[in-house]
Amino acid sequence: MSKDQGRVVVVPCSGIGKPSGSVSREAAYELCESLRPQNTELVALSKLVLGDAATHETVARTPCVAIDGCQQMCASKMVKKSGGTVIHAVAVLDAFRRHRELKAEGIAELNDAGRKLARVMAQEMADTVDAIASAEAAKGESHA
Ligand code: SF4
Repeated sequence: MSKDQGRVVVVPCSGIGKPSGSVSREAAYELCESLRPQNTELVALSKLVLGDAATHETVARTPCVAIDGCQQMCASKMVKKSGGTVIHAVAVLDAFRRHRELKAEGIAELNDAGRKLARVMAQEMADTVDAIASAEAAKGESHA
């Protein structure tokens, strides 16, 4: 199995100035640093926007999870523009529709509800990351 097999790149939108963008980033940190560090790689949207060659290459060869704060879908669009494949797209607004009690507020610092929404989203994405890793492992076995 190659070192990238079963791994996904996680790209949150930058969302500066919007609570939903802050939730997007918090959810990505929670997923990549706490829940599934072995199977994920966090990529900052700014690196794609600035055209960082190594980051573009990583995104192009690894399945991506995009996390968007609003309907503009900056992360999903930028992954596609960089030659990557969005294997799973997550929207903060959709998560909020499912968890109306968790209304994110604050920008520099999210309120408790916003941080909780980020944790809920991260847990849901962790399940998806596990499913991708299992599917890749099964593929690897069938090619053995
Ligand atoms: S998706 Fe929405 S919140 Fe995120 S960076 Fe784009 S405009 Fe901002």
